[in-house]
Amino acid sequence: MRFSNLHTHTTFSDGVGTVRENIESAIAKNMLSLGFSDHSFTACDTSYCMKLEDYEKYCAEVKTLAAEYKEKLPVFLGIEKDYYSEIEAGMFDYVIASVHYIVKNGVCYPVDHTRAHQEACMNDLFGGNVLDMAKCYYGMVAEHAAVCKPDVIGHFDVLNKFSFMPEKDEKYMYVAEDAFRETFKHCKRFEVNTGGISRGWRKEPYPSFGLLTLLRDLGGEAVINSDSHHPDNLDFYFNESAELLRCAGFETFSVFNGKGFDKIKL
Ligand SMILES: [Zn+2]
Ligand SMILES: [Zn+2]
Repeated sequence: MRFSNLHTHTTFSDGVGTVRENIESAIAKNMLSLGFSDHSFTACDTSYCMKLEDYEKYCAEVKTLAAEYKEKLPVFLGIEKDYYSEIEAGMFDYVIASVHYIVKNGVCYPVDHTRAHQEACMNDLFGGNVLDMAKCYYGMVAEHAAVCKPDVIGHFDVLNKFSFMPEKDEKYMYVAEDAFRETFKHCKRFEVNTGGISRGWRKEPYPSFGLLTLLRDLGGEAVINSDSHHPDNLDFYFNESAELLRCAGFETFSVFNGKGFDKIKL
């Protein structure tokens, strides 16, 4: 089975490969197409995102190389838009919407950096109540979808990255599912993100299997993405993710074609 990846980071943000190196890798892997989605600029933390002054260079480089490689591989220009970023969506072929921070009282708490950051966020902002933190995060994901109207929802439950959330707890799952339904009202396409597995944090992609079955029940679409930060990982765990989607009852997954999404049989 051939795949595409829409969630690719390069040296324009916190990836290690250049745009060209990623294209070459996608061709070597016989992929259908490749989309770039470097991190949008976040003023609250500039350590891993794209610099504001680099947007134009990023767009120009992806477009130039897309033209150069057009006979070999369709290449698309996207962005991973954070909740706290302003972007001109019209600059990009597609937008992935993600939440990476909770900012309160001028303090920026990353939700997917380390377990210690999550713990500090829970203690400082939510009096140690993990469910209140989950409600806040998932509420932001739904709000981001409503405002941004993205093409794809990025790593919906990345809050589970460090096994800090009580994933087996009914109350937690209710919060996550409720927000999932709310998010779905604004965007029916969610990524199956394998980035947590390639980096050794998780054994299953985001979102969890229960949420994938909910996505199927709601009639939504799944896009298989690697959230790759290295050219070798562009299609990491894709065959397994396709199998997971089949197990969840999906018959197709969605692949971007430059204008919209095609459904490919699993
Ligand atoms: Zn992300
Ligand atoms: Zn990403």
